Amino acid sequence: VEVNWEVFVAALAGVEVITDAAQVAKLSQDYHTFSPILQRDLAGKVGDIVVRPATEAEVLRVAAVCAWYRIPVTVRGAGTGNYGQCVPLHGGVILDMSRMQRIGWIEKGVARLEAGVKLAALDKKARESGWEIRMAPSTYRTATLGGFVAGGSGGIGSITYGQLRDRGNLLALKVVTLEDEPRAIELRGDDVQKVNHAWGVNGIITELEIPLAPAYPWVELIVTFDDFMTAASFGQALGDADGIVKKLITVFAAPIPTYFAALRQYLPEESHAAFLIVAESSLEVLPGLIQEYGGKLTYQKSAQDANKGVNLWEFTWNHTTLHARSVDSSITYLQSLFPLDKSLQTVEQMYHYFGDEVMMHLEFIRVNGAVIPAALQLVRYTTEERLNEIIRYHEANGVFIANPHTYIIEDGGRKQMDPEQLKFKQMVDPYGLMNPGKIKALMAS
Ligand code: FAD
Repeated sequence: VEVNWEVFVAALAGVEVITDAAQVAKLSQDYHTFSPILQRDLAGKVGDIVVRPATEAEVLRVAAVCAWYRIPVTVRGAGTGNYGQCVPLHGGVILDMSRMQRIGWIEKGVARLEAGVKLAALDKKARESGWEIRMAPSTYRTATLGGFVAGGSGGIGSITYGQLRDRGNLLALKVVTLEDEPRAIELRGDDVQKVNHAWGVNGIITELEIPLAPAYPWVELIVTFDDFMTAASFGQALGDADGIVKKLITVFAAPIPTYFAALRQYLPEESHAAFLIVAESSLEVLPGLIQEYGGKLTYQKSAQDANKGVNLWEFTWNHTTLHARSVDSSITYLQSLFPLDKSLQTVEQMYHYFGDEVMMHLEFIRVNGAVIPAALQLVRYTTEERLNEIIRYHEANGVFIANPHTYIIEDGGRKQMDPEQLKFKQMVDPYGLMNPGKIKALMAS
């Protein structure tokens, strides 16, 4: 697109814009760098300008100008996404939503807020009235709620509440369209799925309404094991223990714990470890279960100390990959869902088959009412061909892979675009300006 950016900026007088090339380049990035494939494929992709609206009225103005000049728009929260979702393939506007930080209300276990609110800020506010967020990615301190809903899937809390996509975890959202005359549309009930996890292609989310959870005092614990499968079985058993209130069950095979320098004293050489977050009220019954599996409790941080020192959850989910890569940048990762099988046979099979090449990192979550291990295995990367072979072997053995090495929605976790989402896209983005190039179904047509 040929755009006269001076005219563009003049049309948006009063709205914050950033034109400094270095800043624009920085805000055109996300954390796709965990993937050597995406690093290669997205190198050099930058936007032309960053716009930082402070209100929905400003978003409507930006949308109108972008629709008029047919300028591509890549929406951005905190830019912590892992699949290059925030990287513009065709330049244009980077729409940074991080100034929209108003929390509207928190009542009866529901919160209404603007899309740029950071998860940690919402959680803190909610706890003042006895509530907390149901689930958060390990990027909780920086990630925005809009970015989490548009680009994330679940995380700490998913052991109890499932994933974002599960019915009931998102109550309503409001999106601004990129029509000739942009509108703000409110979606409620099942209609929220038209925008949930749509990578910023289905309207600019300005507000969200999410259900909360009762807030507990949480205790963080590390339990170590001599044997990986025993650690994994312990994770499954704790996940299945419905009476125990919990929000995190992570299991690492050796040598993953050696990547966590800050926790070295709690992680004996060659040990396999479970990182847990359990409600204080459930603590008394935990030693029995730990003993049953021959585990050793090596670390415990009380609820009072929650805000002091390191937080265990910042070593889990994709933070595990971050820590591993800071020691060995040749490491990359997979995202998997193992089949429902309490004996964890497929986990054991993959663990032995790949050995040290694919290091096992399990995150237990609730899926359709049952606890199963998701995994963000660490992979010692050699070639793209080998990586694809590893993925295919998992799939052939019944492991679902949400491939984090692609910027195409359908090739990741989706497999197929929801026809309802595509229909909604045609309405809200008639010129195909939103994050263009990320949907396979639209390229074919
Ligand atoms: P961004 O990265 O800014 O955006 C993500 C997507 O949402 C993009 O496609 C963007 O266009 C779109 N978007 C953003 N805001 C809007 C809006 N207002 N309207 C429309 N579209 C919008 N993810 C998990 O789900 N669970 C995890 O545990 C997890 N752990 C992570 C750990 C690390 C170390 C890293 C780097 C990433 C991790 N992620 C995880 C991925 C990511 O951090 C989260 O999904 C996070 O919630 C994204 O929020 P964000 O504000 O950074 O979104």
